[in-house]
Amino acid sequence: MRDENCIFCKIANGEIPSATLYEDDDFRIILDLGPASKGHALLLPKEHYENLYMLPDELAAKALPVAKKMITKLTEVLGCDGYNVVQNNGETAGQTVFHFHMHLIPRYKGDQVGLGWKMGELTDEERDDILAKLREA
Ligand code: AMP
Ligand code: ZN
Repeated sequence: MRDENCIFCKIANGEIPSATLYEDDDFRIILDLGPASKGHALLLPKEHYENLYMLPDELAAKALPVAKKMITKLTEVLGCDGYNVVQNNGETAGQTVFHFHMHLIPRYKGDQVGLGWKMGELTDEERDDILAKLREA
């Protein structure tokens, strides 16, 4: 399943050239054109799924081992000090390309990559509300 208007469909399937780090039957991993840090990569399924909600379980199960292998190898090659694996779903969550992808972002000591959030506080009321709603569902 492809989406004719989706740039990541074209990139994942090799119709648009990209800096490809890895490819198999299901995925392509490319360098991000607007990297947060040196080596920032994107894991793209070759089939079009808008986000994680839509991604079939079978493909989801395959994605993490591939990402793990890639960041393990890249840690060795780039000499980075850590990794953020980030995945945005929906505009509010920062998704700008609506074809599922995982960001593999190498971290270097002292880098200025900003992925942080201001820590809030889990109140008893909020905890109970979430747990009750989930139990009902
Ligand atoms: P997101 O905001 O999670 O949807 O991430 C989209 C990412 O895709 C951003 O980090 C962009 O820099 C990256 N991006 C957009 N277009 C391209 C492209 N043609 N090739 C490589 N990376 C791209
Ligand atoms: Zn697509």
